[in-house]
Amino acid sequence: MVNSAARRAEVEQAVARDDIELVRFLWVDHSSVTRGKAVSRSSLASRMESGVGLARTRQAAGLLDLGQPVPGFDAVGEVRLLPDPESYVPLPHAPGSAGMLCDLVTVDGEPWDACPRTFLKEALAAADGYHVSAAFEPEFTLCAGQPRPGALELFDDSLCFDNEGFDVANSYSIELLRALRAQKLEVETYHPEFGHGQHEMTLRHAPALRAVDNYVWQRATTRGVARARGMWATFAPVPRPGLRGNGNHAHLSLWGPGPDGRTVNLFADDSDPLGLSALARHFIAGLLDHLPGLTALTTASVNSYHRLQPGMWAGAFGAWGPDNREAAIRIPSRLRGSEAASTNIELKTCDSTANPYLALGAMIHAGMDGVRRRLDPGAPLTADPARLSDDELRRHGVRALPRSLEEAVDALERDEFLMSVLGPARRALYPSVKRADIRDLKAMPEADDYALHAIRY
Ligand code: GLU
Ligand code: MG
Repeated sequence: MVNSAARRAEVEQAVARDDIELVRFLWVDHSSVTRGKAVSRSSLASRMESGVGLARTRQAAGLLDLGQPVPGFDAVGEVRLLPDPESYVPLPHAPGSAGMLCDLVTVDGEPWDACPRTFLKEALAAADGYHVSAAFEPEFTLCAGQPRPGALELFDDSLCFDNEGFDVANSYSIELLRALRAQKLEVETYHPEFGHGQHEMTLRHAPALRAVDNYVWQRATTRGVARARGMWATFAPVPRPGLRGNGNHAHLSLWGPGPDGRTVNLFADDSDPLGLSALARHFIAGLLDHLPGLTALTTASVNSYHRLQPGMWAGAFGAWGPDNREAAIRIPSRLRGSEAASTNIELKTCDSTANPYLALGAMIHAGMDGVRRRLDPGAPLTADPARLSDDELRRHGVRALPRSLEEAVDALERDEFLMSVLGPARRALYPSVKRADIRDLKAMPEADDYALHAIRY
């Protein structure tokens, strides 16, 4: 983050230009809810430098907003929301308002070890000099209005890639795209997805931290534009029983100097049948090795496991393969004309209930662990695992993945590598917050559980 005087002055100019009254200082919590406090235009300059105070215990809160009894997280103690001026965007659906994404820092301005955005920065700094490029594919369900327990009305019943689905949602999708452009978020593609009411708009890939910030804004704007029209957009993995799942596939590649010193995609190797370098294969193997624990961070809610089922194209099988939509790790076929640049790997076991900074940071740590240990991912899976028998799955080395958040959190706590990179504060907080959600949701009627996710996400 370059929170320099020059950057802060640029934000002040943008605030005047965009006629902004309130600037939100936002962060994303362990439940992946975007929260924050706002400052007025007149106090912006000083608060960009000092930050805004926040009770430490907010990072111990779960989906029901209650702080969990984690040692060191009680009524005492503050941190600061310190904004990254480069993340400034106006909020077109909320005229007069703008926002910046923040790091949580100590009152002395030092990085705080419970800050998710700092976790991603640390993962990037520990990636042996590689630059990480990333992109997300967040799917969402458009509803006619705010969902209620047992009552979620879809906005459209269009089919997958349905031309008429484009028409039905045209006014919304064009307004959304223009709002994103006003935020300097570059939309690449849009389509009505497989499920009724399901849509997907993708942004161009970017350096990892920027890609995650962009995704956070995209999600907020997608929901905000819908809400301003009396509609509702939800990124919940499964907002209503029986719907197709909403994934948030994470794509990444590692970049660095090539043989002639120019920056190139180090995941690409044109001589390989899949176009993948040895570096990419080691990285994939690291992801596979840590996948059970990783799912607690990438498919991070009770609701996630309604989606993470065979046949949902959600990557419910611990395997990797070229354009294999049932494998957790899909290798997308490369784009003609930009083969090397478009080489990347996709983690499908990722959804929008995951804190994206923690999810991508953990993916980078896991992949880099595979690189350092020179792990081998084995042969790619070219068959559809949902159609293989248990025996065949075993023969292909397909690993079982957690089937519930509880199993995932257990797996995370068993993964000493992931626990150690999380650091002392996050490794204490994260499982406690998730176990509180598991307990609280078990006590709810099932309809409330779906509705809660449909509303919060
Ligand atoms: N909706 C699927 C999921 O839950 C993904 C479909 C696709 O391949 O885009 O991940
Ligand atoms: Mg999709």
